[in-house]
Amino acid sequence: MAESSIFTRILRGDIPAEILAETENVFAIRDIAPQAPLHLLVIPKSEEYRNVVELAAGAPDILAEMIGLASSLAAEHGEGDFRLVFNTGAGAGQTVFHVHAHVLAGGLGEKSLG
Ligand code: ADP
Repeated sequence: MAESSIFTRILRGDIPAEILAETENVFAIRDIAPQAPLHLLVIPKSEEYRNVVELAAGAPDILAEMIGLASSLAAEHGEGDFRLVFNTGAGAGQTVFHVHAHVLAGGLGEKSLG
């Protein structure tokens, strides 16, 4: 069996990280290498889905739960507006193949994508 993902190990408490929020199916942490003043990761507790395409096909309710949690955390820790990024595939910069949403906020209004 493949080794558990880094996010599963964080959820289990094997790797220290503050769990900022948690619902039945998803949890959130701060990204260790922030790319914006607010940079959180919202992650399904199950590592069954490698990317957002698999998640949308297999468990759209969990994807909706992730977006809801991203929104409430952006309001709680920022001013409400946020950018949601799902790197999908190594060619797009994905390094952890346990689907996760990057929630970015703060000073992004002037910056276009890319
Ligand atoms: P990338 O590494 O290119 O951003 P991903 O989209 O797969 O690719 O994102 C993985 C994210 O997980 C990275 O932003 C990385 O900083 C973050 N990360 C890795 N290890 C930890 C950790 N222990 N705690 C919090 N965030 C982490």
